[in-house]
Amino acid sequence: MATMESLIGLVNRIQRACTVLGDHGGEGMSLWEALPSVAVVGGQSSGKSSVLESVVGRDFLPRGSGIVTRRPLVLQLHKTEGGTDYAEFLHAPRKKFADFAAVRKEIADETDRITGQTKQISNIPIQLSIYSPNGLSLAFAFLLLASRLFPLLDENDFFFVNLTLIDLPGLTKVAVDGQPESIVQDIEMMVRSYVEKPNCIILAISPANQDIATSDAIKLAREVDATGERTFGVLTKLDLMDKGTNALDVIEGRSYRLVYPWVGIVNRSQADINKNVDMIAARQKEREYFESSPEYGHLSHKMGAEYLAKLLSQHLEKVIRQRIPSIIALINKTIDELNAELDRIGTPVGVDGGAQLYTILEMCRAFDRIFKEHLDGGRPGGDKIYSVFNHQLPAALKKLPFDRHLSQSNVKKVISEADGYQPHLIAPEQGYRRLIEGSLGYFKGPADASVDAVHFVLKELVRKSIAETEELKRFPSLQSDIAAAANDALERFRDESRRTVSRLVEMESSYLTVEFFRKLNTEREKGNNPSPGPNADRYTDNHLRRIGTNVSAYVNMVCDTMKNTLPKAVVHCQVREAKRSLLNQFYAQIGRKEKEQLGKMLNEDPWLMAKRESIAKRLKLYKAARDEIDSVAWK
Ligand code: GDP
Ligand code: MG
Repeated sequence: MATMESLIGLVNRIQRACTVLGDHGGEGMSLWEALPSVAVVGGQSSGKSSVLESVVGRDFLPRGSGIVTRRPLVLQLHKTEGGTDYAEFLHAPRKKFADFAAVRKEIADETDRITGQTKQISNIPIQLSIYSPNGLSLAFAFLLLASRLFPLLDENDFFFVNLTLIDLPGLTKVAVDGQPESIVQDIEMMVRSYVEKPNCIILAISPANQDIATSDAIKLAREVDATGERTFGVLTKLDLMDKGTNALDVIEGRSYRLVYPWVGIVNRSQADINKNVDMIAARQKEREYFESSPEYGHLSHKMGAEYLAKLLSQHLEKVIRQRIPSIIALINKTIDELNAELDRIGTPVGVDGGAQLYTILEMCRAFDRIFKEHLDGGRPGGDKIYSVFNHQLPAALKKLPFDRHLSQSNVKKVISEADGYQPHLIAPEQGYRRLIEGSLGYFKGPADASVDAVHFVLKELVRKSIAETEELKRFPSLQSDIAAAANDALERFRDESRRTVSRLVEMESSYLTVEFFRKLNTEREKGNNPSPGPNADRYTDNHLRRIGTNVSAYVNMVCDTMKNTLPKAVVHCQVREAKRSLLNQFYAQIGRKEKEQLGKMLNEDPWLMAKRESIAKRLKLYKAARDEIDSVAWK
């Protein structure tokens, strides 16, 4: 019995772990399921409340009616060193209730919060802890406090679940007072859901003054526990039996055989209650009843509430001890799972500046690696740059309006304007230059467009790479810092690239390839096709057409060059730089940053932080529960 207190402690811890985990014994194997519980069941007025009172050995406060318990109440009792009793709810931690009337009100309010005012029931338990310096030598001592809380429990069934008292809605037969029609079945199902669990020990209360064949308690117990391995039969109201009859047939197991011996009880009668007979007197009276009883005297040491309390405590201890290996296995499994989850989330970043800088650089490198894979292959996206050069650029070049610019009328216009008042002598040198310069100017468009297209591909790859960097997922601020730095760098590369390609275009206009025209002339002379002499009309169609064709040929040559050189310039300025120095400035910046600024960059996703914390908390609970169980297991 000395270990009962530590058993309560361990069960409380495990239970708290269950609550934190949202483990109320739902789907699958849970810790909750591994623990034994005690439920008191029986028909209306069979003496359930009275038995509980006697088992506890204290008086319940005055009774009344009207309370409707619509959510299970899980009570935990904690022993304190001195001080007065107080209560705390799991849903309102750190708020101490010294006034138990306020506790009752809070339970009612909290019930309404979940169920609404519609008088629905809910199987989400309200978790209440009671702190008391009172001794807990008996497993049921906490019922004392429960009784102080629930003077109105008369219509409800009491349940001990996992050594903790649970007050469930009382079974009803009809819906009253605006209750939904389904309430009868809902409550029945909820009560059943507790007693049908294989870990539930059933205290089946039957009154001796009724035929045992009509016992609601035995009926329910037999339904949910066919072998009787977890049913304790309690026979109340032995004193109310008709004169000349006795319950020996039941108590000695002849009427209805149970695995465990029946325990007969004599509770206070209604008259005793009215006379305020206290519990000590009631127990004394009960003891005397059995000791002096001609029928039950030979069994007196195995009758009465005190004996029932002892029997039950011993049984619970035995059951818990049997369950310890499976409870430890379950806890260990959960600890493993929680550890694995913590690994997935990642450890918190160190607090010193060096560790922070290191973490940031590590993540930058991880990001950079992925970005490069996108460019070099291995991950998709880099091919889009090739497609800019291979499709977009040639298509844009093809669309340039050279036809219009080198149309006969425009050639004529440009040439005559260039000649001024004096016509040209041999070839319209100025006119040629102007036509060529004008044409080359058009290349700026596709050149810039290539720069922009590649810029957007790179930007998209930055976005993708950030999203694909697993390590970065926890750090939204660092994510956006890296994105901003990378995009800044890309902007700079783009500017540089723009300058370079426009320089390429300008260079073509700055110095024409004279060789090209000389060759043209030589070819023409070979073909015996002399250029028009000074006397010929300088603006004949033929002449103009030839100028147009010549310029066009030159422009085409330049166009071919551009097709080759523009990609080189763009890759050189943007792609190569992005690969080489995308985050260089960022590195320089963070190198200068103070510890706090680094800390801010490493602000984790608050959701993840909260998750890690809650897992760590659960882990602590489970480990504490395991330690506790270990210490009990070896006693
Ligand atoms: P519950 O509805 O099952 O909780 O039953 P209660 O414990 O409220 O008891 C109902 C009534 O039966 C009360 O008036 C009790 O005083 C009375 N009662 C219960 N057990 C006994 C008993 O063993 N002997 C006598 N004389 N009356 C009892
Ligand atoms: Mg009752």
